[in-house]
Amino acid sequence: MTCYNFAAGPAMLPVEVIAQIKQDLPDYAHSGMSVMEISHRSALYKELYAETKANLLELMKLDQAEYDVLFLTGGATQQFTTIPLNLARKYHRIAVVDSGHWAQRAAEDAAKVPGLTVDIIASSKDNDYTAVPEIPTEFDQDYDYLHITTNNTIMGTAYRDDQIPKTDIPMVADMSSNFLGQEYDYSKFAVIYAGAQKNLAPAGLTVLVIRKDLLVKHDDLPGLFDFATEAKKESALNTPPVFQVYVAGLALKWLKEKGGVASIEAINQEKAKLLYDCLADSKNFESKVDPDSRSIMNVPFVSGDPDLDAEFVKEATAHQLLNLKGHRLVGGMRASIYNAMPLEGVQALCDFIKDFDAKH
Ligand SMILES: *Cc1c(COP(=O)(O)O)cnc(C)c1O
Repeated sequence: MTCYNFAAGPAMLPVEVIAQIKQDLPDYAHSGMSVMEISHRSALYKELYAETKANLLELMKLDQAEYDVLFLTGGATQQFTTIPLNLARKYHRIAVVDSGHWAQRAAEDAAKVPGLTVDIIASSKDNDYTAVPEIPTEFDQDYDYLHITTNNTIMGTAYRDDQIPKTDIPMVADMSSNFLGQEYDYSKFAVIYAGAQKNLAPAGLTVLVIRKDLLVKHDDLPGLFDFATEAKKESALNTPPVFQVYVAGLALKWLKEKGGVASIEAINQEKAKLLYDCLADSKNFESKVDPDSRSIMNVPFVSGDPDLDAEFVKEATAHQLLNLKGHRLVGGMRASIYNAMPLEGVQALCDFIKDFDAKH
């Protein structure tokens, strides 16, 4: 039986990408070495880096003259600190939209940067984060930037492009869990960052896309934390995660072959609709998320009975439907259906939900 991995992250990679890794692993590009062993100063890596960066910006429809890409380590979490260190320089005050757990974490970590004030300017806490809060466009304070989280991995909510305004102040987005999974007008953003392990590559790589006019060197920051220094050194101030960049490169080529972000979004919409429709028909399970805020990447669902939820996860696992246990903050189940999850995987889950309902 085919096995489907619904983990939120690290998440499944496309089977074609895994097959290519397997083929390349002993001898990368006739170098006689594995890609895990090549130098980050070699021409081979420089080529890989340049190609990966170009493909990424092409898929995002961003101009290399306007935007740069950094391949960093430390996870999306490190950016909760590094972004304010680099960008909150004039007013020492940032605005955060609180759409759930990761947005809160971003706000909490930023608040620890000395001298920085963090204002939560919108929140959906009062309705348990079952919808995304509207993003304000007018502010009664001066802010260095506005921080949003486009897809809320734990709550299962997301902003569509039409729910994201163009703002006068720079907008920074944590896109970790829907990076290149649905279309946005990426030019609305000053900075976009994403931990790669959700929708792109193995853990250990964080992609940061930044408007070039924001790359100003800050002499008071250690080089590793200074975006301008990292950009100048092509993300290789210290040893970069070469293997992860290589896998990201393969995933981006795979995405280009699929027709790009709009094409993968159409498939992702179809997968999500299948699952939400199946949950609407289910006698045991439901999605608690407001239909207008539904994520097409992470779909939490519950029965209301923790024992029945546990039984579901147990039986699903026996059917090779893996990692469906929900996040401890919301309980129940969560199906993460990123780019790499085929339609057949979601169909298998829906068939299983129907069988389970018939038995219980
Ligand atoms: C997973 C996740 C993070 C944390 O990512 P790390 O790379 O583990 O630090 C941050 N934000 C969002 C939206 C996430 O889904």
